[in-house]
Amino acid sequence: MITTAWPDLEKTYLMYNIKRPPMVMVRGEGARLWDETGRDYLDFVGGWAVNVLGHCHPAVVNAIQQQAARLIHTSNQYYTIPQIELGKILVQNSVLDRVFFCNSGAEANEGAVKLARKYGKIHKNGAYGVISTLKGFHGRTLAMVAATGKPHYQIPYTPLPAGFVNVPFNDLEAIKAATNAETIAIMIEPVQGEGGVNVADPDYIKGLRHWCDENGLLLILDEVQTGIARTGTLFAYEQMGVEPDIMTLAKGLGGGVPIGALLAKQHAAVFEPGDHGSTFGGNPLACAVGVAVMNEVLTHNIASNVVQVGAYLAEKLQALVQKYPLVVAERGLGLLRAIDLQDGVGSEVVNRCAEEGLLINMVSPNTLRFMPPLIISQAHVDEATEILDQVLGEF
Ligand SMILES: *Cc1c(COP(=O)(O)O)cnc(C)c1O
Repeated sequence: MITTAWPDLEKTYLMYNIKRPPMVMVRGEGARLWDETGRDYLDFVGGWAVNVLGHCHPAVVNAIQQQAARLIHTSNQYYTIPQIELGKILVQNSVLDRVFFCNSGAEANEGAVKLARKYGKIHKNGAYGVISTLKGFHGRTLAMVAATGKPHYQIPYTPLPAGFVNVPFNDLEAIKAATNAETIAIMIEPVQGEGGVNVADPDYIKGLRHWCDENGLLLILDEVQTGIARTGTLFAYEQMGVEPDIMTLAKGLGGGVPIGALLAKQHAAVFEPGDHGSTFGGNPLACAVGVAVMNEVLTHNIASNVVQVGAYLAEKLQALVQKYPLVVAERGLGLLRAIDLQDGVGSEVVNRCAEEGLLINMVSPNTLRFMPPLIISQAHVDEATEILDQVLGEF
């Protein structure tokens, strides 16, 4: 029984920065969410690619409960064990050498740009410029809005911090043309998530790596969305034949508990005591959960499930492209996928799917994105694509 009109209270108390559908979520388990009326939904939004192990996975719940009863927070003035343990796991399972923990993707990317600027002061005559891509997404802080190549996110907040240029994605010549003596880093997502699931061409990424090497630039890969097995390998760079100098993580790392991480190779890890910090970053609670998520992802080989189920989802979505003239393209990597629609009916499709019990995300009126928990099976894909098939048939 519904006793409170939460959406009305939202209008009274909260800032209106996002449009929400009417249901109020109260419980989650695995790939499913329940609203307050008891209705269940198959969740192919996954908390925006955060709930890698699904909702309320026992490993995550246990880690929270046990760590909460032992030690939740100290300042970073003291050593705590989970932070060092999680750093060790990330370094041992990546090509990066050093980790700094923070609380979100935007904060990790801010740290990446600060690290690159300090590197520029030491190694490149104070070069500070960062080249990023149009339709990229790096977060909502002022500097990351400048790095995010979407005018819609930038225009209300000008003047933006200096030192950022945005050029077309998958266009090596555009990066070369934008590089000058002030440039210190190139920052891209291996797959543009928010921008519509645009996969970087391996030749493009390799070309960027060469360009960085030839010009003394740092390659920053924003794996906030693609990291933690989302694309079928623990990190997306593994499939693209390059090693970044700097990598950022957040979304999936805490399985729903806020955490971000900035990783760098030794040569780029130029912070010294006092250069950078974060009050909550790396606290024992968040890091203990990160350890639990990473152990679960690694020991249960979640990445290979992503490869298999991701290929199956791709096949099923491709069948919808064949079946409906409305659906014009399918793309993605692993369990980060999208379809393009004609006629800008994205929000109607999302709403009808929700009414039928399937949650999906619209990145633009013509593009729907799928980022389910990484623990789903083919049966979940069948259920989701059957609902989508039925809904698309109505348009
Ligand atoms: C979500 C996202 C961010 C921002 O992360 P927040 O935790 O919302 O600050 C940055 N980069 C990418 C690629 C993302 O998908």
